[in-house]
Amino acid sequence: MPVTSTSMRAVQLTAWESEPEVRDVPVPRPGPGELLLRVDAVGLCHSDIHVMSCPPGTLPYALPMTLGHEVAGTVVEVGDGVAASWLDRLAVVHGVWSCGTCHNCRRGQENHCLKLDGRVGCGLGKPGGLAEYVLVPSERQLVSADGIAATKLAPLADAGLTAYHAIRLHRDAIAGGSTVMVIGVGGLGHLAVQILARTTDAHIVAVDTREAALESSRSHGAHTAATSIGDATEQLRRDRGSSLVDVVLDFVGADSTLSQGSGALAPGGRLVMIGGAGGSMTVAKGRDLPLGWHVSAPFWGPRQDLEAVVDLAQRGLIEADIEIVRFSETLEAYRRLRAGDVRGRIVVVPD
Ligand SMILES: [Zn+2]
Ligand SMILES: [Zn+2]
Repeated sequence: MPVTSTSMRAVQLTAWESEPEVRDVPVPRPGPGELLLRVDAVGLCHSDIHVMSCPPGTLPYALPMTLGHEVAGTVVEVGDGVAASWLDRLAVVHGVWSCGTCHNCRRGQENHCLKLDGRVGCGLGKPGGLAEYVLVPSERQLVSADGIAATKLAPLADAGLTAYHAIRLHRDAIAGGSTVMVIGVGGLGHLAVQILARTTDAHIVAVDTREAALESSRSHGAHTAATSIGDATEQLRRDRGSSLVDVVLDFVGADSTLSQGSGALAPGGRLVMIGGAGGSMTVAKGRDLPLGWHVSAPFWGPRQDLEAVVDLAQRGLIEADIEIVRFSETLEAYRRLRAGDVRGRIVVVPD
């Protein structure tokens, strides 16, 4: 169905350190190689709150900018050179709009594309999906996904992909009956628990201050659940004879979670910093951290991991916990996200 409207509503950040606004903007048209999607569902992410809160000059993004980097939609127009078979297909957007040709892109690390220049892509430097339509630069940025609802698909673009990528990078350390602690079982962490439960034999420890989040993480496969890292290690000591953790996946990233999480590590253990709460830690050899520690800070994930996480969802092995809101409720939903008043992922659908 060709697009006839020339303007559309979009949730745009118009000034730094402020809330976004709903504005009328032109409907983009696909140029050569590009695809236009009608947006069916968009997940709201804490990194949007981070972007809104940045002082001027922090990020190299031009404003106004349409937010939304967890996008599922249906291809409605294709530019020259794009196969017409894309039309009418449901797809999830790989939000890292990489060049496809640099050293890192050529070796499957397009999430570390050397040409991004600080502007990552969809809703993070380029126009995102909180609008009626989104323009995607090439078919490399789409993974088609039949047999799954758009509202369940959208959160896989970041929450699912980031969690999957962090786990995949450390699969060698997670193998062999390791103990893995997931700190923060919200939007990303609740999917990490499911991915661990379905694809590894790890003993999964969920930590979250919210009882309701812990309850759902138990149903997703967590073996130990606690409201603090101290309680979690105490339970491990009591139930398993050792409080040591092989891999800590920190989806919060505050000073306290980084220091307590690293304090729980076994020799050779790995601290994986994923959450963007702005915490920091000092790493030094022969001091507080155990022998042979690793620290890593993975970023989002490459397309091959998005394909893998979509496959897990299509096979019914993982499923995002979602709360659906209408497009016109987006600004209020962001306020709730900022206040921490959300379980799982808020997903925006058209009015
Ligand atoms: Zn995000
Ligand atoms: Zn590149």
